[in-house]
Amino acid sequence: MKVIDLWKSDQKTTISFELFPARSDKAAESLEKTIEQLTALNPDFVSVTFGAGGSTREGSRQLLQKLKHEKGLDVLAYFACFGLGPEDIVSVLDSYRAIGIESILAVRGDAPRDEAFEPHPDSLQYASDLVAFIRQRYDFCLGVAAYPEGHIDAPDIKKDLEYLKLKVDQGAEYIITNYFYDTRFFFDFVDRCRGIGIEIPIVPGIMPIYSVKMMEMLAGMCGATITDEVRKGLDSFEEGDKDALIAFGIELAYRQCAELLRAGVPGLHIYTMDRSMSTVGLVNRLRADGLL
Ligand SMILES: Cc1cc2nc3c(=O)[nH]c(=O)nc-3n(C[C@H](O)[C@H](O)[C@H](O)COP(=O)(O)OP(=O)(O)OC[C@H]3O[C@@H](n4cnc5c(N)ncnc54)[C@H](O)[C@@H]3O)c2cc1C
Repeated sequence: MKVIDLWKSDQKTTISFELFPARSDKAAESLEKTIEQLTALNPDFVSVTFGAGGSTREGSRQLLQKLKHEKGLDVLAYFACFGLGPEDIVSVLDSYRAIGIESILAVRGDAPRDEAFEPHPDSLQYASDLVAFIRQRYDFCLGVAAYPEGHIDAPDIKKDLEYLKLKVDQGAEYIITNYFYDTRFFFDFVDRCRGIGIEIPIVPGIMPIYSVKMMEMLAGMCGATITDEVRKGLDSFEEGDKDALIAFGIELAYRQCAELLRAGVPGLHIYTMDRSMSTVGLVNRLRADGLL
């Protein structure tokens, strides 16, 4: 399945989930249950991350294979080129093509934490280079990542947008965004994209809050603003009350999704962090209210 076909007709708002390969036996057991619960929601597709430097190479391929061939789900494979040489890139992409993958989200990735990691001397510098590389060799349906608040390393949001435009000009067909806690970031971003001639579908990424520690850590890494609304919400219940936290995370994500859906977004892509409870609660509520 080429994911772009889902957004061509304009008739349906897609719902999709991001998963990553398990890093331990315990995580694999839990992922199995997550997959079961998420499959029951009948998503339009599920995506699988790829560890920069090739760290999850085999795990990503196996998970894609399982989701596609055992669970019968439509899949989107992320691919991060950081540190990989041309032969590595071709070998991963050939292995994806061999298991029937048709859609790729091409990202740069970041330097792995392993200090001993040596990037290949011919590795690609930016995601736009990867898009061009793939376009010259494959007919995958290609998407790219974008950051409504600007990428954390970008000199400014104007430059960041120009680099996003370059990815589109090199052949990206759709965009999936990083998450945000205020929909205004997303709407402003879409306006700026349209303003410089980026016309392809832009699918917002949604990250329910799963734990305060994780929220702080991820926001620190990607630069997402933790808004006053989030801080106030977190202050409204006892620290350590996990049920209240999950309920608040679902409520906040629900309000965001409702605004996004009313504004006519092409889809919602949920960062599940390999957990099912919040996604199940969120999607069921959106469906019960006729929003999805
Ligand atoms: C939806 C989504 C999925 C993701 N999946 C993964 C994954 O599976 N694995 C993973 O490791 N990471 C993943 N990431 C994280 C991503 O790899 C990091 O955010 C990374 O830092 C940037 O990737 P990019 O593709 O946006 O890079 P790029 O588009 O290359 O941008 C990176 C930085 O370089 C700047 N830049 C771009 N082009 C140029 C240029 N020509 N000259 C100068 N500066 C330039 C940009 O402004 C930006 O600051 C994902 C992110 C998102 C939003």
